Amino acid sequence: MPELPEVETVANGVHERVHGQAILAVWTSNKPQTFKTPPQEIAETLTGARIDRVHRVGKTIVVNLSRLTETTQFLVHLGMTGRLLVCPAEAPIAPHTHAILTLSGGRDLRFVDARRFGRLSLDRTGYGGPGQEPLTISKDDFVSLFKGRKLAIKAALLNQSLLHGVGNIYADESLYRAAIRPRRQSGRLTRTELLRLRLALVEVLKHAISLGGSSVSDYVDADGVRGFFQLEHMVYSRAGEPCKVCTTTLKKLVVGGRTTVFCPICQH
Ligand SMILES: [Zn+2]
Repeated sequence: MPELPEVETVANGVHERVHGQAILAVWTSNKPQTFKTPPQEIAETLTGARIDRVHRVGKTIVVNLSRLTETTQFLVHLGMTGRLLVCPAEAPIAPHTHAILTLSGGRDLRFVDARRFGRLSLDRTGYGGPGQEPLTISKDDFVSLFKGRKLAIKAALLNQSLLHGVGNIYADESLYRAAIRPRRQSGRLTRTELLRLRLALVEVLKHAISLGGSSVSDYVDADGVRGFFQLEHMVYSRAGEPCKVCTTTLKKLVVGGRTTVFCPICQH
């Protein structure tokens, strides 16, 4: 499952390659699972529109389109295996291709998704995502998000209606860096601890973005090249291995239905 840094890397890569270009034609596979908005409506809306900006909101890639006076956004959610590729128009069409946008610059923007958990849709309201943006939320807003909540902090970090875009990897990594145990009750964390968590989360996400996203799953960048940058994980997927700081064996738990790894010494 691509996480926030991977989605941001793909969005930035696609933006650099396609912004300012017009969409000349659209082909869709019409596979019902892929299209949250009817594919005919997507094709009609996109054809003739110009791509103004491609960016990330939460874990969604948002393509801002302008067409005469109308402003619409084309949303791409990668799901588990979705890939958004920029390729020459003459490149062979890969299996599981669900959308092809023919661009004025001579290249295609293609959506390929083998497992079909990815989603394509249109939004005309200005997509803001389900929660708050972890990279830009203020200190006070971050602290008040968790006030009075009985949820374990790990589960709260994964709750997309609180902060959107944080998945299992960065939840575990930020809790380790903030020295907070994943099962602590959110509402009982002190302001100091929450501010430490906010800082750790921003640091770990920005670091991963700067590396181009860590490539633990099927992450592929905008040109279709498999990402090869791997963030050095301190705890994620390292249960049973020694802590890199204190050498204690890292422990595994299930919190919020997800495997969670932490250090029993470094985290309190
Ligand atoms: Zn440790």
